[in-house]
Amino acid sequence: MAKDYGVKRLKEFGETIFATMSAKAAETGAINLGQGFPDSDGPAEMLAKACEAINSGHNQYAPGRGILELRQAIARQRERHYGIKYQPENEVLVTVGATEAISATVLGLVEPGEDVIVLEPYYDAYVAAIALAGARRIAVALKETAEGSWSVDAEAVRRAITPQTSMVIINNPHNPTGSVFAEEDMAELAKVCVEHDLLVLSDEVYEQLVFDGVKHRPTASYPGMWERTITVSSAAKTYNATGWKTGWALAQAPLIDQVLKAKQFTTYVGTTPFQYAVAWALDHADEWVRGMVQGLQDNRDALSAALKEAGFKVHPAAGTYFVVVDIDHLLADSEIEDGTEFCMLMPEEYGVAAIPVQVFCDEPAPWKSRIRFAYAKRPEVIEQAVSKLKAI
Ligand code: PMP
Ligand code: GLN
Repeated sequence: MAKDYGVKRLKEFGETIFATMSAKAAETGAINLGQGFPDSDGPAEMLAKACEAINSGHNQYAPGRGILELRQAIARQRERHYGIKYQPENEVLVTVGATEAISATVLGLVEPGEDVIVLEPYYDAYVAAIALAGARRIAVALKETAEGSWSVDAEAVRRAITPQTSMVIINNPHNPTGSVFAEEDMAELAKVCVEHDLLVLSDEVYEQLVFDGVKHRPTASYPGMWERTITVSSAAKTYNATGWKTGWALAQAPLIDQVLKAKQFTTYVGTTPFQYAVAWALDHADEWVRGMVQGLQDNRDALSAALKEAGFKVHPAAGTYFVVVDIDHLLADSEIEDGTEFCMLMPEEYGVAAIPVQVFCDEPAPWKSRIRFAYAKRPEVIEQAVSKLKAI
């Protein structure tokens, strides 16, 4: 019998759904509206800055916290956009994507056996980080809003708190639902976190991708939250650079010190030349980002309208790359059991890949007929996808 390698704490995890669906799309030649990544480049000058950095000798280890130029640019962006101050010297940490900021935050600040609350559906990296830390996750479902979008249910979070709870992980704007949480709900959540003296990991990688004139409000801006929040963001989604894996964590110095402690042993540092390019973008590319976000909003509108016309219930999405639809009507008169099965069939049968939402849930039942489409693609690709989806 083959030996059963692998540690218990990672037993529940297989290949990520994003890898599975992207491989399926590649295999079948389907349009990949599964994994969220753009199919065009970021600002040309930013790309040139990365080449320039390589050509001018910025090719050795960066300082552990990241190059100072980038930390300063991150702090400037945070203050310019949201009026929140961080000291580049000791309150900003550059990481290998938001993913490393997430895992280092959990590894550096959560003890084995402690409870960490995640909002369901959750991004997969949170639960893996919690498992690696030997902590226990407690999933709290988002509540559906009157408009059919979702928001954080602060009362449900309050009920889920145990004496062992040390951290709440929130993600706003939210992947996979595309929701932007209502400010009143965030204010309630902030009260709960303050009352129970919890740490908060706030994943804001979609901070710039908010539509219809709405502006993102960082978790750290709510009363009592700055000092307990580790904010995570990344260049991936703001500058169409998911392959650069350049992200950051922001928090008061004693918290960042602990994140750094874990991070220095996972990667030590991220790549150096991209840090120069991202620093440039943070200072100079706001206009480019506005244009990119307008394009995303147009894609959201086009895809949502077409999906509605094709008979899907489309949930409103106020931000991110994603829109969620219900496939109840398709499941009702078929042998297909749920969204996962449907998404496995889609690339081959319909030429489009999507992601089932239920895989991000401890209680999958309410999400079984919901699937996510990512629309960060060129308009012509969205058009092609739409013509294929109409055939369903
Ligand atoms: N958090 C969320 C909610 C995401 O959707 C993603 C994927 N981009 C990440 C974190 C990871 O970001 P990065 O690619 O910068 O590691
Ligand atoms: N964040 C991307 C998504 O939600 C995927 C990133 C990844 O594959 N880890 O689709």
